[in-house]
Amino acid sequence: MSDDWFSRLKEYDSLSKARERLISSGKEQEGRLQTLRKRQDDTLAQLAELKSVYIAHQQSLFEIEQKVKVQTEQRGHWMDRGGSDEKLAAYNQEISSLEDKGFALLEDLDRNESERADLQTFLSGLEKTMSEISDEVKEEMARFQHEIGQLDLRLSSLTDALPSEYRDLLMKTLKKNLAHGPFTRIDSGSCFFCRYKISRTDESEIDMQKKLKTCSQCSRIFIPYGT
Ligand SMILES: [Zn+2]
Repeated sequence: MSDDWFSRLKEYDSLSKARERLISSGKEQEGRLQTLRKRQDDTLAQLAELKSVYIAHQQSLFEIEQKVKVQTEQRGHWMDRGGSDEKLAAYNQEISSLEDKGFALLEDLDRNESERADLQTFLSGLEKTMSEISDEVKEEMARFQHEIGQLDLRLSSLTDALPSEYRDLLMKTLKKNLAHGPFTRIDSGSCFFCRYKISRTDESEIDMQKKLKTCSQCSRIFIPYGT
């Protein structure tokens, strides 16, 4: 009879592993979207930064134009009064230098605009990809959820069918959240997972008499050889 219980434990083990694989596939799916969301945030931040530089440059350009206007007016008054050529040259110099600054700013504004247009194009493509992937991910997640639900039903019916001795030990061992699950087997006289040496008596009780036993070191449940 214990053969049957052990084969149920083994089935429990393989179903739980299938469940874990589904959960990690779900995380991968969500990871795909998260990577794209991060890229979207970065692009939006770059756009905002470029926009604020643009606004600051526009303001500087406006101020330069005001200065050019003032200087040009002053130069006109100076010429009307027949002022010296030296001072006139200084006005011209100042106006021309302000105009150069203005041109440089205009070039920056053009570059800024085209960089933002490129980013905007990239962003639109990214958003399109995200909405496609998001549908895919939703579908996959729904499928995983459904499969996990089926596995959970199967797992609980398996544990319900176990004799209390097996079920209690399984529940107790599951609570320990052991890596690679709650089961082990004897491998060359040792526990497969923790390599704890198993006595001949224990080995015979586990593998021949199919007794329910746990590893004294890692506390995993032994599944007898040939189950
Ligand atoms: Zn062990």
